[in-house]
Amino acid sequence: MRDNGGVTVYRDEGIVLRTQKLGEADRIITVLTRRTGKIRAVAKGVRKTRSKFGARLEPFTHVDLQLYERRSLDMITQAETLRPYGEPLVADYPRYTAGVAMLEAAEKLVGEEREPSLRQFLLLVGGLRTLCERTHEPRLVLDAFMLRSLSVAGWAPALDECARCGGRAGIRGFAVAAGGAICLACRVPGSATPAPETFTLMLALLRGEWDVADASQDRNRVECSGLVAAYLQWHLEHGIRSLRHVERSKSEVPPTGAAPQRGQAAGTAP
Ligand SMILES: [Zn+2]
Repeated sequence: MRDNGGVTVYRDEGIVLRTQKLGEADRIITVLTRRTGKIRAVAKGVRKTRSKFGARLEPFTHVDLQLYERRSLDMITQAETLRPYGEPLVADYPRYTAGVAMLEAAEKLVGEEREPSLRQFLLLVGGLRTLCERTHEPRLVLDAFMLRSLSVAGWAPALDECARCGGRAGIRGFAVAAGGAICLACRVPGSATPAPETFTLMLALLRGEWDVADASQDRNRVECSGLVAAYLQWHLEHGIRSLRHVERSKSEVPPTGAAPQRGQAAGTAP
């Protein structure tokens, strides 16, 4: 960061998550950066056809940015493409949709702006790179990204021990609200009953054991994707403060100041 005649200028690199129109010619760009965390910044004139950096600020692009700080949204003054992950993805629909889900999950899992989220940034870069390499099925790449992102957010599901009693014997069910795998004794109504091979697949994806994941059966991949999606959805809805506020105001429960913390809302705290 440097002070440039009263204006603070800084550089950072990041993955463009989302763009929104602003006025006639501008956009608000949401970027997950390496050092600053998630930021929203204004790019002036990028919707004009002769814009010098409009194409560099499209979703999926890994960009090097120069910005200056403002009281409201920071302003992007320079953008250089480091790697255009979007280009190889748009031609391959399953990979493209997996990538879109990654960007959306990353944006939601990093709740606060300007909170450094280096591990989530590195996971996103790694996930997009793996997706573009075409070495693994896109659904597996996506589920590996989701499981590791949940882990980084402090919400790793229990997979080889019971989320309730910690026991490693008799794991039979998966209960989203309980925190993942549960044993026969702890089973709750409505919990799923995945195949043992599905637990093996989920553990392999979390640990990056691609030889195990690539050898998995399709039915276990389908089951894994369903559980990961349900688990992510549950934690996002219960972990994002603004959504919880909406829920509270809907049910007209007075704000007593006893709102649970993120981890408690997720059901992972003792
Ligand atoms: Zn148990």
